[in-house]
Amino acid sequence: MLLRYNYVMPIPRQTVAIFIALLLLVAGTSGCLPTIADRHLNRALTPPPYEAEPEAERLHEGLFIADLHADSMLWSRNPLKRYGYGHVDLPRLQDADVELQVFSVVTKVPYGVDLDENAGDSDMITLLTVLQGRPFRTWSSLLERALYQGEKLNAAVRGSAGALKLVTTQRDLEELLSARRRGEPVIGALLALEGAHALEGELVHLDRLYDQGYRMVGLTHHFDNAVAGSAQGLEKGGLTEFGRDIIQRAQERGMLIDLAHASPRAIDDVLAMATKPVIVSHTGVRGTCDTVRNLSDHHVQGIAATGGVIGIGLFELAVCGDEIEDTVKAMRYAAELVGVEHIALGSDFDGATATFVDVTGLVLLTQAMLGSGFSRQEIAAILGGNVLRVLRQTLPEA
Ligand SMILES: [Zn+2]
Repeated sequence: MLLRYNYVMPIPRQTVAIFIALLLLVAGTSGCLPTIADRHLNRALTPPPYEAEPEAERLHEGLFIADLHADSMLWSRNPLKRYGYGHVDLPRLQDADVELQVFSVVTKVPYGVDLDENAGDSDMITLLTVLQGRPFRTWSSLLERALYQGEKLNAAVRGSAGALKLVTTQRDLEELLSARRRGEPVIGALLALEGAHALEGELVHLDRLYDQGYRMVGLTHHFDNAVAGSAQGLEKGGLTEFGRDIIQRAQERGMLIDLAHASPRAIDDVLAMATKPVIVSHTGVRGTCDTVRNLSDHHVQGIAATGGVIGIGLFELAVCGDEIEDTVKAMRYAAELVGVEHIALGSDFDGATATFVDVTGLVLLTQAMLGSGFSRQEIAAILGGNVLRVLRQTLPEA
């Protein structure tokens, strides 16, 4: 008797048509939505083109410029092509006379991220990853997301015909410098992790990232993780045992430790065990902008004492202002506290943050620094020389 009912209901043609239309709509919007988000989130408060005074232009062209933080690999843009939105790509890095760009990799951001405190129980990057059509393995694994973005940078380097060079050793760095001296417009790229939750609790995953070329490890992002407390987490605790293992292993292998987003207790714990210079890739200082995310005078001094650098951001949350002069004020404050040799640039380009300019507007930063009375030597140190020194002290030799 059962057989009598065992047949497939004919599906009306109309339903099939609606289903196909819906599929096309989803496919269409899934390509679009990440681009809309990219355009909207990675704006420049002052849009290009930028024009600076001839004196600033001349100085800027002759500098070695390094920026400690850009999240460009998170987005769907091809790093080798020029875009009219977002902040960084190879053609614009060339226009901007940047020699070294740190590409930091984001793998998890809670919904409705808050400046003061965030739980780690939700994640917007999953939705972005799915809508971008990234491989299935990256949908549920933070490690796979980090490996995917690392491969994206490696692929760009391979496809750049020598214009983009991955810097993983001191030898790479010296090759980059000699190529620049010969007048070749090659740009160095350094791969960094923003938040060691991407290690998924396994020290051996640090080695996998190292093998892919990662040379900088940010411990936390907007929430506490199994490594350390975040300045914006709920508990804001110190380093865990796993965190200590990571610091030790990273220092042994020549990977820089990045304390951006780390809680004050975590910063204390890292400073107590640092044997190499540590950095903060993109931040502000409480002396000019008193927020939980920014560094106290005590921590500015502690980081300087390791020989490290503090990358000052080009965004409002870091410097409590909406002009490039506010970044210069924070640089000035920190430089007066610990010396110019510990200050650097950490833009947060493509970090879902409206920066004051896109990368081609960095000449306006040079101009503002000149205007505030920094000498040429001081500007050269802050915009690149100091980062070069720290990399020479930390990267593996070859
Ligand atoms: Zn960040």
